[in-house]
Amino acid sequence: MAGKTRRTKNGSQHGWMRAFLLFILSVIIVAGVIYFTGVTPEQIDSAISGVFGEGLFEASGSGDQEHAGADGSPDDYSGLLPEKGKLTVTVLDVGQADCIVIVSPSGKTMLIDCGLSSTEDRVNAYLEAAQIDSFDVVVATHPHSDHIGGMAEILRGREFRAIYMPRVTHDSKTYDELISVIEDHGLKAKAAEYGVTIPFDDALTVQILAPVADDYDSLNDYSAVVRIDYNNSSFLFAGDAEMISEMDMVSTCKDLLNADVLKVGHHGSATSSTEDFLNAVSPQYAVISVGEGNSYGHPNSAVIDALEQQNCRVYRTDQDGTVSFVTDGKNYVVKTQR
Ligand SMILES: [Zn+2]
Repeated sequence: MAGKTRRTKNGSQHGWMRAFLLFILSVIIVAGVIYFTGVTPEQIDSAISGVFGEGLFEASGSGDQEHAGADGSPDDYSGLLPEKGKLTVTVLDVGQADCIVIVSPSGKTMLIDCGLSSTEDRVNAYLEAAQIDSFDVVVATHPHSDHIGGMAEILRGREFRAIYMPRVTHDSKTYDELISVIEDHGLKAKAAEYGVTIPFDDALTVQILAPVADDYDSLNDYSAVVRIDYNNSSFLFAGDAEMISEMDMVSTCKDLLNADVLKVGHHGSATSSTEDFLNAVSPQYAVISVGEGNSYGHPNSAVIDALEQQNCRVYRTDQDGTVSFVTDGKNYVVKTQR
């Protein structure tokens, strides 16, 4: 018994000696690396923070995606601000509504829709964080309150140089207020319709692909659908365009529909995202602007399935919060608030 105890004790002593020798050896190796390569411990530190993100940027596993919110709260945009020299497209989490802010590499600004009147504060918080106090271009895709509800108030105190709207009016206070703000700025709305090219930034091409026709039963089908190209990157913002408008686009300008990033039509409703349309767009990334627990049942699970079948990464503002796409004209980094 005693012998066995001794052997155990000897084994334990050997273990400690091995560990100590390994420690000495690793100190020698690290010192050698620093001596021979000139890499300082500070550089090793910064390389590590570059890999894992720094400050508020928290890296995720997928390489091109970052969770950018500091605390995930809806008004915290600290990690989602436009990047100078790149095209930044931010789909704001405004609940069951749309609001998209676009900043070109040279700092030109565009607003596509503006959320509900109840989400004005959230839009204001983003614009203030991004230091955007004027817009070069505004697009009101169609006059439903989940698209223009917050627009009059957001535009009232800001300069904007041009506003595009489809040729359709709407009998609502929200619509009247928007029209009066446009008049107060001494402007007239420009027609948003197929064939229009929007002057915005020389480095980008901005085209309106819909509405193709001038008479639709559904106000949603009057939605201005906007395409943006920047070098090899492309975005398609489908507004609330439904099946009829999608069919019109497929038959009129199918070649212009293919895009890397799709702002999915009508909050992911089953009334939109028809097979022919999605096949023509064939997006790598899709973003659905949708309110958590909304009464419409958006997004439709068949739409999500159809997008995923295209090997498309789907982002949702109800789950991801505000989503920001940053591109150098070729590669994308996608940042999410949650
Ligand atoms: Zn809508």
